[in-house]
Amino acid sequence: MYRTHTCGELRIQDISKRVILSGWIQRSRDLGGMTFIDLRDRYGITQLVFNMETNAGLCREARKLGREFVIQATGVVTERSNKNPKLSTGDIEIMVDILTVFNESVTPPFTIETETDGGDELRMKYRYLDLRRDPLKNNLWLRHRMAFEARNYFNSRQFMEIETPMLIKSTPEGARDFVVPSRINPGQFYALPQSPQTFKQLLMVAGYDRYVQIVKCFRDEDLRADRQPEFTQIDCEMSFVHQDDVLNMFEGMVKHLFKSIKGIDLNHEFPRLSYDQAMEQYGSDKPDIRFEMRISDLTTAAKGKGFTVIDSAAYVGGLCVRGCSEYSRKQLDELTEFVKKPQIGAKGLLYVKYGTDGIIKSSVDKFYSADDLKIWLNQVKAQPGDLILVLTGERMSTLRALSELRLEMGNRLNLRPKDVFKPLWVLDFPLLEWDEEAKRFFAMHHPFTSPKTEDIGLLDTNPGKIRANAYDIVINGVEVGGGSIRIHNEYLQKKMFSVLGFTPEEAERQFGFLMQAFRYGAPPHGGIAFGFDRLVSLFAGEDSIRDVIAFPKNNTARDVMIDSPSKISNEQLKELSIKLNIKKE
Ligand code: ASP
Repeated sequence: MYRTHTCGELRIQDISKRVILSGWIQRSRDLGGMTFIDLRDRYGITQLVFNMETNAGLCREARKLGREFVIQATGVVTERSNKNPKLSTGDIEIMVDILTVFNESVTPPFTIETETDGGDELRMKYRYLDLRRDPLKNNLWLRHRMAFEARNYFNSRQFMEIETPMLIKSTPEGARDFVVPSRINPGQFYALPQSPQTFKQLLMVAGYDRYVQIVKCFRDEDLRADRQPEFTQIDCEMSFVHQDDVLNMFEGMVKHLFKSIKGIDLNHEFPRLSYDQAMEQYGSDKPDIRFEMRISDLTTAAKGKGFTVIDSAAYVGGLCVRGCSEYSRKQLDELTEFVKKPQIGAKGLLYVKYGTDGIIKSSVDKFYSADDLKIWLNQVKAQPGDLILVLTGERMSTLRALSELRLEMGNRLNLRPKDVFKPLWVLDFPLLEWDEEAKRFFAMHHPFTSPKTEDIGLLDTNPGKIRANAYDIVINGVEVGGGSIRIHNEYLQKKMFSVLGFTPEEAERQFGFLMQAFRYGAPPHGGIAFGFDRLVSLFAGEDSIRDVIAFPKNNTARDVMIDSPSKISNEQLKELSIKLNIKKE
């Protein structure tokens, strides 16, 4: 028998029991006549004791053991005189009388403790060692429980988990595909799925009216903290549903996860904002509503006083920051630098300080009297003591810059606590997005999203104005899921492809299988996919999804542990009928 208990299991009630433990040596200490070893496994740490007086031979053996050796210890559970309240096993220790070494370990490149000295790259290279540490272990455990509870929720509501293929067909919409050459069909390629979208729709045609799958998806995009080339979705689809049915079902799932995993009751209806409202009030389609600080439109109020910056701007927007009228020159300069960063793109920052004494000071005193500025203050509902920050420019880009400024102020004022969760739905997205470079429309969600019935007429006249039956679920400023009610009619789907610039032949070649299926009785259907990694990282309070994935890629899309991507042999290339054409640097 390798072990009678785990290293996280023994308590004061177990005193006098003879036990066998197996695990890794986290740390050992020699104190006079005693040697102490912290033995670790997935479940915790138990202290082992070796006594020079009572068993000198064994104690000498124990002193030779190094970090991360894998050992077995047999002994008796005794009460610790020096208890450690930080450990669940901290009341006891094991007086060891038999010791077996299963395997030695070379010195690990970093210490396997909660706080460690390993840099990011080193920890990625030795991920299996990093995974021994508590932070990652806790995150993976959380991830497991969330997947389990999600399945639980769906299982009790007649959803079926059905696997869809990984080797599929490359399609031009969406992100860039990862492709896989086919040996048996020379010159032809599969694509890895960006999502199981068309397959889940085909399952609806097949009559599986409630589908779910926790599934890997692949997108060849530039990486960010919340993006990985391969990531996991909780992918869902339902038949015979309206938008409200879908929202209610999946709001229920989010509530179930919060309750079962975090003990948090979100027993209110999640707020629902239209895309237009979200943009107008927060400058973002994924607003963080943990704090108010909404954007106010000052365009009309501010124009006409001869200040070109404002008079020439299509849009003037302001944020009212409570209690910050005492902001210093230096702080305001910092904020100006912040909004001028290329990724934010504002030209400058205007401000009005509404002092606690009622005195108004501003960066635009030259053009605006105190009475003029009072109109601004009213508009943003300012009170004495508030600071008003104002940006000007083209409408959409200014709103986006205000959103960034709002989040920055939220951070500075600690208004974004990680243990408060504020979900909301964003609805009524535009169906299409105009791309200036390509000079054509792209689907904002994907080409299978249905237009609102009342907007269908605009397909021929003003496609840019059509609203979609599409929705996102956002928590704390993170888009954790998105979906739509789908087109289930062949003619409308064809129409959509034509608006997206596909010729009928191209549409047939790319998506003929779906339109073919729609001829055999497609039910009304709709669904959603949750970004599972993002959801877990939000629950875990992590900023990067890498911290909730067992074996992630680094920010150049490499797995530095297995050294991938890597070259393949000429033999393999030949089999695949592939000739490389790589220019030497
Ligand atoms: N397949 C979509 C996505 O990956 C989600 C959906 O519409 O259900 O974003």
